[in-house]
Amino acid sequence: MSESEKTAVFQSGTETFLTHGGRDPSAQHGFVNTPAYRGSTVIFDTLAELDDATIRYRYGRQGTPLTDGLQAMITELEGAAGTVLTPSGVSAISLAFLTCLSVGDEVLITDSVYEPTRRFADSVLRRMGITTRYFDPRIGSAIAEMTSERTRAVFIESPGSLTFEIQDLPAITEALSGRDIAVLVDNSWATPLFYKPLSLGADMVIHSATKMFVGHSDAMMGTVSANDTYLDRLVQTHRTFGLIASPDDTYLATRGMRTLAVRMKEHQSRALELAHWLEDLDGVEVLHPALPSHPDNGVFLRDFSGAGCLFSIILPPAPRAAIAAMVDSMRVFGMGYSWGGFESLILPADPRRIRTAVPWDKPGNLMRIHVGFEGLDDLKADLGEGIARYLKTAGM
Ligand SMILES: *Cc1c(COP(=O)(O)O)cnc(C)c1O
Repeated sequence: MSESEKTAVFQSGTETFLTHGGRDPSAQHGFVNTPAYRGSTVIFDTLAELDDATIRYRYGRQGTPLTDGLQAMITELEGAAGTVLTPSGVSAISLAFLTCLSVGDEVLITDSVYEPTRRFADSVLRRMGITTRYFDPRIGSAIAEMTSERTRAVFIESPGSLTFEIQDLPAITEALSGRDIAVLVDNSWATPLFYKPLSLGADMVIHSATKMFVGHSDAMMGTVSANDTYLDRLVQTHRTFGLIASPDDTYLATRGMRTLAVRMKEHQSRALELAHWLEDLDGVEVLHPALPSHPDNGVFLRDFSGAGCLFSIILPPAPRAAIAAMVDSMRVFGMGYSWGGFESLILPADPRRIRTAVPWDKPGNLMRIHVGFEGLDDLKADLGEGIARYLKTAGM
């Protein structure tokens, strides 16, 4: 067992909670699962009922027993005060920003952030008169020196889902404590099974539920969970934007939660085995925070109780034809966006094009790898042959 695999532990009770939480068979004729309620209108029998604001289900946009169940599960896992569901991870990110930012404010965002998060900040927030500055993902407590009186939010994605820097969240929240600054964390990679940002001082946690929660590449959804300080504002903002996740997608995400622990455990050990194997190949650099060679491995081991299914490799500098030679003929890995499903994916990407605070200066071509549930021998053979084609085309 490697260093990092030792840390694949769930908080006691988590697996039982994932299996039994957020559902009540006695409320649905004994059937195990809460059905997808497809509904807009709720019928009231009397005027007294119509006037009774305490009746829980009054209109489709305000939720159903199914959305309540899923929200309750995520709230419990994140140790939050409450959770809302949105139609995608990107809408969850924009909602979290709009919950805590107003005209004239400033937000600080990690330079390693998911590209569409950056796009929202650089377009919509900017148009609203909200300034964004990007920071070195390894800034730690020096974040305090970057803030101004206008800073109202700091956005973290740990690890960055392309370049895999771990951010020192406890150092950041400690450095900002006592200030009116919301700390937002995109926790899609680790899930609350392996990382609990609110317990490390964050205020809101965001998920692309499309990835690990759904887990089967067949639905899109986002979630935002908040602590006591921000829950009210989050719920109000969510309501006024009229955001809902579709009943079918909510059903699929709820079903995904039932197997999240077994999937995370399996994804982690497969990704680690592949990462170790790749690291031993000539010319391959691996960016995986659970490897002892990763510069943030110490922070990772301190703050995370396990690792996700996604990491990157860097191959020696070569023209685009070498990348094509590799990925165009892969037999097992698919090429595509997203991750978190049962099927393995590979995605060439270029951080040089994206970074603004700290230039990405690693030479070579980056490929992001999502490790799914195919046989490990098949995955290794496919990658090994692909890398050989890459090196051959590059003349190496
Ligand atoms: C995919 C992704 C998102 C966006 O989620 P969608 O459901 O695709 O909108 C946000 N953050 C991270 C880290 C992601 O990988």
